[in-house]
Amino acid sequence: MHAVRCALIGHPIAHSLSPRIHQAFARQIGLALAYDAIDAGPDGLGHALHAFAAAGGFGCNITLPFKQAATVHCDTLSERARRIGAANTLTRRGHGWHGDSTDGPGLLTDLGDRHGLDLRARRTLLLGAGGAAASVAFDLLDAGIGELTIANRTPAHADALADRLGQPGRVHTRYLADLPDLGTFDLIINATSAARSGGNVTLPAALAGPRTAAVDLNYGEAAIGFLAWARSAGCRDMIDGLGMLVEQAALSFAAWHGSRPDTSVVYAELRAERPLEATAD
Ligand code: NDP
Repeated sequence: MHAVRCALIGHPIAHSLSPRIHQAFARQIGLALAYDAIDAGPDGLGHALHAFAAAGGFGCNITLPFKQAATVHCDTLSERARRIGAANTLTRRGHGWHGDSTDGPGLLTDLGDRHGLDLRARRTLLLGAGGAAASVAFDLLDAGIGELTIANRTPAHADALADRLGQPGRVHTRYLADLPDLGTFDLIINATSAARSGGNVTLPAALAGPRTAAVDLNYGEAAIGFLAWARSAGCRDMIDGLGMLVEQAALSFAAWHGSRPDTSVVYAELRAERPLEATAD
């Protein structure tokens, strides 16, 4: 039996959980799957995609730093990928790639189905304005959150994201220095990569109220600082990005193989190795 060829392309890639997650999904349906992790170097996306297609590659996940650049290599884009300007799921169609993004729907599935959060009307603070922030912002607005405030280290990037979201009555930008004056939020999302470079955005406790959900798109060590802040500030819910990671992978898997996997077993196994209690201490 020929294995279906899929892969993750990024740089760096060594510690990615995606190959393990996709293989676990494949076992659920008895699918013979080859899922490689391809480190394309800092600017080798085009070459890596070309070589992967030539070797019979069918499905490809894209991660840092290539999600935006991936759209350039696609012949067609889903409406979601077009509006956020990024793709994390590429599927071979004929002689070209079709690009989609599963990050936003992955987050919504995790928050709604796994954590039971009702997002409607939540006053929301989005920290960061990079690719992940853009991916989740459209879907959060579609899910019915209330006012969205974006704060980012580089204010121009926050303004650009707000412009792209195109809802000036509902989406605002603020400087990080203004955070102490913004009142409390019902939902605070950390979509920065600050912790990956050893930094953390300094947050005032006044942002959190008794019904605040704090969500870090990062997981593992990179989520320690934000979730520790959330606990000390009195947030009601503290959620890291592990569930989003599993759910966005499941949506990619379903797009490629036509079968929606059971994410609960895979999530439980990964969570057991990364207890959230340890993260938030
Ligand atoms: P980008 O590089 O596109 O954006 C990074 C963002 O972080 C920018 O807003 C940047 O601000 C900000 N930032 C970086 N360093 C600092 C710092 N020292 N202080 C303050 N702000 C900083 O990355 P992504 O948006 O793709 O990813 C963001 C995070 O989300 C990553 O850590 C990634 O691992 C995680 N992620 C998790 C996923 C999951 O499935 N759980 C999926 C996708 C991403 P500026 O504009 O000023 O540069």
